[in-house]
Amino acid sequence: MSAPHPYRDREVALATKHGKERVLATALAERPGLMVQVATEVDTDQLGTFTGEIERPAPPRETALRKARLAMQALRLPRGLASEGAFGPHPIAGFIPAGLEFLAFVDEDLGLELVVHHLECDTNFGHTVTDQLDERTSQFLQSAQFGSHAVTVRPNTATTDEALYKGIRTSSALAAALACCAAASSDGHARIETDMRAHLNPTRMRSIARLATELAERLDRLCQSCGAPGFGRVATEPGLPCRLCLTATPQPAADIHGCARCEHRTRIKRHELADPAGCPFCNP
Ligand SMILES: [Zn+2]
Ligand SMILES: [Zn+2]
Repeated sequence: MSAPHPYRDREVALATKHGKERVLATALAERPGLMVQVATEVDTDQLGTFTGEIERPAPPRETALRKARLAMQALRLPRGLASEGAFGPHPIAGFIPAGLEFLAFVDEDLGLELVVHHLECDTNFGHTVTDQLDERTSQFLQSAQFGSHAVTVRPNTATTDEALYKGIRTSSALAAALACCAAASSDGHARIETDMRAHLNPTRMRSIARLATELAERLDRLCQSCGAPGFGRVATEPGLPCRLCLTATPQPAADIHGCARCEHRTRIKRHELADPAGCPFCNP
């Protein structure tokens, strides 16, 4: 019998105000067996909010690590966990919205910092500017999955955020907020935005759940050199040969796996050939 994973039945502190423990606890309980404890007294909004009342002082990766450390301090645990997302136009296909989700894990005892991230195209992120619930506004609300997903409403030209309505999920609340914000705006319009907080945005919660599974898989694997949890893919190496002419393509030819703590790396060659559509010789 092999020894139990070093994280089996160990506690990890989580900073969240938005119910993320639901998906994170489930993913990490199976493997490596971490038990998530929510640091309820940590106000994650102090590191910034989506709605801009408090500006985010750091990039999302750093913010996630800071939140994890705040949770560790609050619960006096050597391990911490936090997630952070940023939303905007897709970095390559700018006409579609995307979310950049980060999930940070810190182990102070082992001197380990591991941040997994992914670019998520499955998001309802968006906004519209309107003065009434017309056809175009209804279309926006439909694409935002209003009802199961919340929106925020504010005056379009507000100088202060006094009239900011968050977490709106009913038509009556939306109508009231819209009327109030349009009246408070110098151009008579309100700005409706998708509410990106995880507990009010099931699409985002699913995205965090996928990232949690990825983190669980990483933490489950131990480094063969130093024994630390968190061994996994850290990079890819381009050059996969084309199926027709064997020219090296930009597609990954190998995966580089690495340790989150030491310099140990392994290279795993991919045993496949690339589609000629991506070949610089066959399809220049
Ligand atoms: Zn190592
Ligand atoms: Zn080719």
